[in-house]
Amino acid sequence: MIAENISVLKSEIDNKAKLVIVSKYRSIEEILLAYNTGHRVFAENRVQALLERKEALPGDIEWHLIGHLQSNKVKYIAPFISCVQSIDSLKLLRILNKEAKENGRVIDCLLQLHIAKEETKFGMNEKECLDVLQKSKLENLNHVNIIGLMGMASFTNNTKQVKDEFTALKKFYDSLKGAENFKVLSMGMSSDYKIAIECGSNLVRIGSKVFE
Ligand SMILES: *Cc1c(COP(=O)(O)O)cnc(C)c1O
Repeated sequence: MIAENISVLKSEIDNKAKLVIVSKYRSIEEILLAYNTGHRVFAENRVQALLERKEALPGDIEWHLIGHLQSNKVKYIAPFISCVQSIDSLKLLRILNKEAKENGRVIDCLLQLHIAKEETKFGMNEKECLDVLQKSKLENLNHVNIIGLMGMASFTNNTKQVKDEFTALKKFYDSLKGAENFKVLSMGMSSDYKIAIECGSNLVRIGSKVFE
């Protein structure tokens, strides 16, 4: 099933976006089934689970973090993480920069924007995001490479609302693209990836649709 789900998804996505498979809550066996289709890019939302899975799975997986990252946990992932999609403060970016430097690395990251109506989702508003971009230059944070933005739409059946939220993020992304070294717009999950791609996403984060 998993292999079939991935092949259906990939043909639907049709190279319009990069697929990141969200392996949170799944067993090592399930993740291996996905891995064995040739897929190599996986994401977790919690550091502890990420570390356990990295340990148990093959070393050529490209790991992304997509959940809120606590400052005191940055050191555990800095040696290997491919992309931190969930940068939601300047403080976190500074710590990631410091830990990346200690590991002799430059770590890709995305700034997480709060685009949903719900209160519970992490992320910055546009003004905070601009502030982080400006300060990261002023402070020469050369060990982090901010390559784009990530956002989660509201969890709702209201397609128009989801579309409006993604469109607003795409607009903000485009407004920054000229000045910044941006190439990734991460939006879309199992319930809304089709809308996200229509709205200009080039990276989708999908869990349930792969494993169910
Ligand atoms: C869990 C999660 C996903 C994937 O959700 P599915 O509905 O399982 O596809 C994507 N992005 C983030 C930030 C998540 O936490």
